Amino acid sequence: MLTNSLVELDRRHLVHPLSSFHGHEARGVRVMRSAQGARVTDNEGHELIDGFAGLWCVNAGYGQESVVEAAMAQMRELPYATGYFGLGAEAPIRLAAELAERAPGDLDHVYFTLGGSDAVDSAVRFIRYYWHSKGQPERDQFISVAQGFHGSTSAGAGLTALPVFHEGFGVPYDWQHKIPSHYAYRNPVGSDEAGIIAASTAALRAKAEELGPERVAAFFVEPIQGSGGVLVPPKGWIKAMREVCTELGILFVADEVITGFGRTGPLFASEEEGIVPDLMTVAKGLTSGYAPMGAVFMRDHVYQTIGEGAGQKLIGHGFTYSGHPVSAAVGLEVLKLYEGGLLDNGRRQGARLQAGLAGLSDHPLVGDVRGRGMLAAVELVTDEDKKTPLPAAALEGGTRLFDRAYENGLIVRAFAQGILGFAPPLCCTDAEIDEIIDRTRRVLDLTL
Ligand code: PLP
Repeated sequence: MLTNSLVELDRRHLVHPLSSFHGHEARGVRVMRSAQGARVTDNEGHELIDGFAGLWCVNAGYGQESVVEAAMAQMRELPYATGYFGLGAEAPIRLAAELAERAPGDLDHVYFTLGGSDAVDSAVRFIRYYWHSKGQPERDQFISVAQGFHGSTSAGAGLTALPVFHEGFGVPYDWQHKIPSHYAYRNPVGSDEAGIIAASTAALRAKAEELGPERVAAFFVEPIQGSGGVLVPPKGWIKAMREVCTELGILFVADEVITGFGRTGPLFASEEEGIVPDLMTVAKGLTSGYAPMGAVFMRDHVYQTIGEGAGQKLIGHGFTYSGHPVSAAVGLEVLKLYEGGLLDNGRRQGARLQAGLAGLSDHPLVGDVRGRGMLAAVELVTDEDKKTPLPAAALEGGTRLFDRAYENGLIVRAFAQGILGFAPPLCCTDAEIDEIIDRTRRVLDLTL
């Protein structure tokens, strides 16, 4: 009864993110009721393994009491303090300091946002300000990678390279450009790693040349492309792209909204790649979904240049909730959990997940298995040699696969192209990872 009335209220009043507005009419929303560890229970009493950590964000898992306590204590003591007017609060100051200590290189300066999209948007604005400060305002062109996702603010949606975020919205803008993805499984240059790196570095150089190298502001990239279908670049790809940016004098931005906070193993994927981006955006695992928060990290030269450009003037960028004390208190507690064993467990379970999914390669529908750590994808095809995607009717934009998984006690992301995406919480046990694999095999069998 309760569920029925919620479904009706939802249908009438709640506008869902990334939804078709009228698309939920038929089945109605599935209401999540509670969660613990890696498991969620819906309003109808179904218990599921959350193989996607919400939206690749609940890295620490559900039901972490110490996080709840930290949020409550902060709410009681000081629920809000603005960062405007030279004011502040202890939690965001401490969190910025803890993060700066752990971030690669001299990414020492942290601007807090509410999530990933506004972190990307803020990065774009800081980058424009940076080039103005350097006396090069003509550097106003941005390059990103096909299949990439950088959120859905007006600026971010244009850097994003997924058509559904463009159609009907009038983006990308004319200052936003793309180079082809490294997508190894379906790359026109073939799957040879050195060949892919050479093609990508050449494409970036060529794009900069086409735009005029002195007009390019920055290159945005995800260390692993998430929403494009979990596309893992060849080892050395990121480093090579970083080097081209350095050579061309372009700022390099690593968008670690998904890859940050243990998702691929270390705290930040850039660390593993041995690079220091000029700016880095994070969100999701920063607070593990317990409260909204994102951040832009700036290297010292970026921060100093912007500051010198501004002089005594105010830099006109700021949100009411930048550095929200409750989110920051959550972030501090979550960081303790990561370092108190969750990162280690995530690494162990990541290896188990990758091995388990690789074991599905013998299934006739599996064309490609890829990933790193607790981030993975299985790409389905009807013909392995020809790499024929599943027919649209078998996918219905991914909902058929999603529903089938759900009915079998598993939440995964089902991409419209017939790709299953996995990003389980780092707290998963051996048995839970094995269940994810078993249930996935069942979904594949039912899809045959
Ligand atoms: N950047 C990347 C790489 C993302 O994957 C996402 C979200 O999935 C975003 C930015 C946007 O973050 P948010 O949804 O928190 O606005």
